[in-house]
Amino acid sequence: MTFKAIATPTKTKEILNKYGFSFKKSLGQNFIIDVNILKNIIEAAGVSKDTAVIEIGPGIGALTEQLARHSKQVIAFEIDQRLTPILEDTLKDYANLSIVYQDVLKADVEQIVRTYFSNQHDIKVVANLPYYVTTPILMKLLMERLPISSITVMIQKEVADRMAAKPNTKSYGSLSIAVQYFTEATVALYVPKTVFMPQPNVDSAVLHLSQRETPLVEVADEAFFFDLVQAAFAQRRKTLRNNLSRYFAENFTKAEIEVRLKRAGIDGTRRGESLSIQEFADLANVFYKR
Ligand code: SAM
Repeated sequence: MTFKAIATPTKTKEILNKYGFSFKKSLGQNFIIDVNILKNIIEAAGVSKDTAVIEIGPGIGALTEQLARHSKQVIAFEIDQRLTPILEDTLKDYANLSIVYQDVLKADVEQIVRTYFSNQHDIKVVANLPYYVTTPILMKLLMERLPISSITVMIQKEVADRMAAKPNTKSYGSLSIAVQYFTEATVALYVPKTVFMPQPNVDSAVLHLSQRETPLVEVADEAFFFDLVQAAFAQRRKTLRNNLSRYFAENFTKAEIEVRLKRAGIDGTRRGESLSIQEFADLANVFYKR
């Protein structure tokens, strides 16, 4: 029998009709109906027959099917139990695949990865993420320091641009720094709305995050570093001196803040958006020491 991909408008409609499935907007359900886009995602991820893949949100299985065909093994997390009979049908031919019906934000991903992928050396995350929880999902995967080499995800274009942004650009902010502290971030491709059913209201992009062996910069305390970065961008148009004075109002006098800015070699009249990640690390380390 010839292979008929799930990711076509006809096949997707046929599956939805067969099971009377209705999309839940609140779960970010926009399914891909273009096989070429799926191939591009898999290529951008660098998936091979040696790769063990973690997918988040298989939907009716469009990407999952391609991952099962091109990788060694797949675990997929899906929150919507209504998809169980559909996935049992659409993906029945793939023995290298397990679906975990859990909210990925609540799941013990590390334990599940250890159980399913105990002997795997090349573990990657590949997903078309639900856009309403993109940042929490990515931050969870990064903060938990999972043994994954990369994350390749379809997300809202604007969020992808922010995550991959460099200093002195409009998109650069605390999210760019949080992501680039752990990974090397690149936008692999932009994707038109027409490849989804139903079409989302926003444009999309495929973001590739390659995990660093060690974080990009050395910081005395990670939580303090991330808090200071957020404070520096609290009011984007204000100077660093202003934003820090507000944030440290109860800890340091204005004069003490000046001394520390000087010690870090950073001009307080600059704006947060002009600082490199290394400069933020220098600043955080000087303020952390008291
Ligand atoms: N992978 C499919 C595709 O590309 O056609 C579907 C992608 S759709 C954008 C997002 C999927 O994530 C939906 O199936 C949705 O039910 C699921 N989802 C939403 N929130 C989730 C969560 N917190 N944990 C796991 N899956 C979730």
